Amino acid sequence: MGFGACKAETPQTEVCATETLFPKIMSAPSTTVTASANCWNCSTATGDAHFCPSCGKIQPPRRGADYFAFFGLPRKLTVDLAALEQRFHSLSWKLHPDHFVRASESERQSSLDLSSQLNDAYRTLRDPLARVEYLLSLSGMRKEGQKKQQAPPELLEEVFELNESLDELRDARSSSGSEAQMQALRAKLEAAQHKFESSLADVDKELARVASDWDAALDAAAHEAARKNLMERMNEVLNRRSYIRNLVNGVRQELVTGD
Ligand SMILES: [Zn+2]
Repeated sequence: MGFGACKAETPQTEVCATETLFPKIMSAPSTTVTASANCWNCSTATGDAHFCPSCGKIQPPRRGADYFAFFGLPRKLTVDLAALEQRFHSLSWKLHPDHFVRASESERQSSLDLSSQLNDAYRTLRDPLARVEYLLSLSGMRKEGQKKQQAPPELLEEVFELNESLDELRDARSSSGSEAQMQALRAKLEAAQHKFESSLADVDKELARVASDWDAALDAAAHEAARKNLMERMNEVLNRRSYIRNLVNGVRQELVTGD
């Protein structure tokens, strides 16, 4: 499971889903919502299907449906990306508003609403980090910010040193320190940056491990308490990841803009 994939694709900008707030939890527009899982046209039970299995009519968005349910997936963190992509393309085509130009007003609205939910759901689930964040948010478990400002205990010393080096660099810059001094400080910061990048890779591995524990717990129909415990662990790992990533970005910024 490649938790670093997003980072690799977007090295400079912060569009990686860890830092951005993933799309809001799906909430269907109130006008088209129906709580029933029966076809509005022929009353056949539709389950999570977007189209009635009997008459084929498009169904309005389901109240309380989440992104996993949207794709007919269990709330697991291991997702077959090829299958997800295929399903996305197939649904994109089927739900496309062009197919509903001559349909009723409410069917046209369903097509628009579902197409928009489809895009949000796909964007979130295809990204392993956004997927974890989303899963936690569904249970109200994502508490980013609460502990965000605290350095992870095992990194306290490094963080302290890093902040010192950053201060020194800024001081040297404002008092026009010697070129040799600046170079030494920059080298120190680069070393720290690499150190934190490797911490980030470790955190990603840890997250992948907890994620696979989570899937196993679902398979084993684990108790609520066990699942809550795993979610708390994931939340903690995500906070740590976010903290370290901010550090790495801060140093990078300082090194790039510092000249
Ligand atoms: Zn029907």
